[in-house]
Amino acid sequence: MPPQQKSRTVRRATKAPSKKIRYAVVGLGHLAQVAVLPAFRNTPNSELTAIVSGEDLKRKKLGKKYGLDHVYSYDDYDKALSVVDAVYLVLPNHLHREYAVRAANAGVHVLCEKPMAVTEEDCEAMIDAAHKNAVKLMIAYRLHFEEANLEAIRLAKAGKLGNLRIFDSAFSQVVVADNIRVTEPVKKGGGPVYDMGTYCINAARYLFRADPTSVMAFSANFSNKKFRHIDEMTSVLMRFPGERLATFTCSFGAAAVSRYTLIGTKGSLTAEPAYDYSMALKHRLTIGEKTITRSFPKRDQFAAEVMYFSDCILRNKQPEPSGLEGLADIRIIRAIYESAKTGRIIDLPKFATKKRPTMRQEIHRPGHNKPQTIDAESPSGEAA
Ligand code: NDP
Repeated sequence: MPPQQKSRTVRRATKAPSKKIRYAVVGLGHLAQVAVLPAFRNTPNSELTAIVSGEDLKRKKLGKKYGLDHVYSYDDYDKALSVVDAVYLVLPNHLHREYAVRAANAGVHVLCEKPMAVTEEDCEAMIDAAHKNAVKLMIAYRLHFEEANLEAIRLAKAGKLGNLRIFDSAFSQVVVADNIRVTEPVKKGGGPVYDMGTYCINAARYLFRADPTSVMAFSANFSNKKFRHIDEMTSVLMRFPGERLATFTCSFGAAAVSRYTLIGTKGSLTAEPAYDYSMALKHRLTIGEKTITRSFPKRDQFAAEVMYFSDCILRNKQPEPSGLEGLADIRIIRAIYESAKTGRIIDLPKFATKKRPTMRQEIHRPGHNKPQTIDAESPSGEAA
């Protein structure tokens, strides 16, 4: 049996927890409704206690559906904070900082969607608030708990591909004109690099197990009207220590593709789909003449990350991916946009990433069907 097909004991996140961590989910848009809220049915150490939404209809319907006594508007965010141990922030990117800092100042732990925020300063404010108030802060990098990506890391680390030389990725989808990804300008966290580029940057970093030393980028717009506030797509070149190079293109104006290829001196690994949560992920591993394919079943990646975060709270452990991991990507995104704007290569100062994901973080939770949504659409405009 080839090594990548050997059966492995599935790691569970926790022993039976003595206490359940109570969460408020803040912002009931598409991701919250199709993935985050349902995940709490699948998390033995965590409980959905409250929801926070600006829409009365969502509060009523989703409160009833999930049997909640605590439903709040944003004006009553402080009340929500008073009945929970943790928040899961599923808000537009430019609101992550404000809602994270307010939660931390109220002594509430923060699980925040990626990208962490818009600027390095935002990220630092979030890290400082968590530190000052002794609460945990985790950025919701669900792939740090997902088998296909962790197996890619394992293969790369074990030297199966030889000396790693090249990372290349494409992540694209056609995003509708009224989605926050398109309507919010880049300076408020809109655009494909904040949204999809984060995955490519993060994957290059966890596969090379290093941080880039310089970046350069080009942006392009084909359909100018729709993309007047943002770039339609951006292509990026990142130089990594050890004379390694990573390239990727992320786009809001091209058919859905989610792929990376990692190439070493002995072989290559292509993951496609690589980054998704709503389908099985696949590997194609070629070493010399031999190619092996492998499929990784669809799982509930959100339940996995929530369980992991609750476990960190219950056991007083520092989460990986931490706030620093979120900041590591934001500084690169900002350098990418600076390069695209100025046409210059941007050097990145050394960055102290302390922890990187490993196979030990793998958590399996069974997948579920997509629920119906209330006044929420996917980025490509589908209402579930
Ligand atoms: P949506 O636009 O579908 O939802 C965002 C929700 O935020 C809105 O529905 C609204 O909820 C609330 N909101 C509060 N203030 C505002 C405002 N000023 N403008 C717009 N919405 C507001 O976005 P997504 O669910 O797709 O994305 C939310 C976050 O999740 C983003 O940070 C995104 O990057 C991340 N994400 C992560 C994914 C992953 O796989 N990890 C996948 C998709 C998104 P309400 O009506 O309840 O107030």
